[in-house]
Amino acid sequence: MLQTTAVVIGAGHAGLAMSRRLTERSIDHIVLERGEVANSWRTQRWPTLRLLTPNWQTRLPGHDYAGDDPDGFMPAAGVVATLTRYARLVGAPVRTGVTVHTVRAAPEGFQIRANGDVLRARAVVLATGACSRPAIPGAADAVPPSITTLTPLSYRDPGQLPNGGVLVVGASATGVQLAGEIHRSGRPVTLAVGEHVRLPRTYRGRDIFWWLEATGLLAERYDQIDDLTRARHLPSPQLTGTPEAITTDLNTLTALGIRIVGRLGRITHGVAQFSGALANTCALADLKMNRFLNRADEWATASGLDDELPPPHRFAPIRVDPRTPLELDLTSGEITTVLWATGFRPDHSWLDVPVCDRNGHIRHDGGVVTGAPGLYVLGMPVLRTRASTYIHGAGADTEALAGHLHSFLSSRRR
Ligand SMILES: Cc1cc2nc3c(=O)[nH]c(=O)nc-3n(C[C@H](O)[C@H](O)[C@H](O)COP(=O)(O)OP(=O)(O)OC[C@H]3O[C@@H](n4cnc5c(N)ncnc54)[C@H](O)[C@@H]3O)c2cc1C
Repeated sequence: MLQTTAVVIGAGHAGLAMSRRLTERSIDHIVLERGEVANSWRTQRWPTLRLLTPNWQTRLPGHDYAGDDPDGFMPAAGVVATLTRYARLVGAPVRTGVTVHTVRAAPEGFQIRANGDVLRARAVVLATGACSRPAIPGAADAVPPSITTLTPLSYRDPGQLPNGGVLVVGASATGVQLAGEIHRSGRPVTLAVGEHVRLPRTYRGRDIFWWLEATGLLAERYDQIDDLTRARHLPSPQLTGTPEAITTDLNTLTALGIRIVGRLGRITHGVAQFSGALANTCALADLKMNRFLNRADEWATASGLDDELPPPHRFAPIRVDPRTPLELDLTSGEITTVLWATGFRPDHSWLDVPVCDRNGHIRHDGGVVTGAPGLYVLGMPVLRTRASTYIHGAGADTEALAGHLHSFLSSRRR
């Protein structure tokens, strides 16, 4: 039986950053990865996906973006290349092609079954990602069988879709990007819009992520956020990363010819029913966007930047057609594909340690798993700060958790 001090499961950016932090502290460890380094970006993302965070923000411990397009948006293949280089740079001891089947508590730590082997470790870091499975609403069961259904994990390009109309359910980062791409392939697209976070791509000449970082919003700590559960379940911002850095809001999509409808509720006898509250949903998203822009303007003034930046301005509210349909008959032949862009969830089904709540979420305090000393989780939304949701957030998160892990091992030794 192989014995090591720590096992990191998953060689995405979070697992690799943790490996770097453990190496810095001379903590003996291995990284187990079922595929190759950056497996999610190789196998679970569609090829035209571009990060919605700008290149300059793709930084990890010991690595800053050094390319010639800091304001651009990296395609999925670029993320694979970046993480592959990073794994080499930090000398991460990754064992590829090793799937972890169970993690159990054992005397002095944990027992890990991976492929045919059994390992023992005093600490385990779960870095298997927050987006391993699509989150699909119950209404999906009522989609007529004649309709092709896809999720962002199975979507590759519009060529795999049958001819005909497409209903994209969900208008956050994934939904708006895929709605635009499928529309450009010549298929009529209907986009069902629930609660969303509207943000412009750029404001006063700077990328919105510059503002989110500069104003301190991304650095807000998990233990200082009033409604943490809500913050952890907020949809991704309605943003796309395009070479032209365009804003992809609902007005843009409507102008392209995409039909906007309300949140999908039930599907009864093949008829999809949409919420009549679309105008309110959009007004609320506008309100929250303007609240953030107010904060940005106040910050700019307080920082003495008003002379450097273009003047403040506001964006047109989202226009909702009062004749927006509330129903769509999925048996009429008008729609041939439903794409569920309704979010993602993690997969910790192989974790045999009783640390999940009744909704299946791991209970943790900023990544330190509750009730299982030596067990840590990374990569969950707002794990320690609002930045934890993004690649660059792993730097501070892994620093804190590696520090905790180091103290845990030291206290055990004493
Ligand atoms: C569509 C989409 C777009 C995103 N866009 C951005 C963006 O623009 N900017 C940004 O900063 N973030 C973005 N994110 C969020 C986040 O950065 C990514 O989800 C990122 O991949 C998470 O990194 P991770 O290391 O936590 O997990 P992952 O990259 O998912 O890595 C987890 C690894 O664990 C491995 N694994 C899983 N289970 C096992 C097992 N049982 N045994 C062994 N190995 C296992 C997987 O193969 C995988 O390699 C996006 C996410 C999605 C889904």
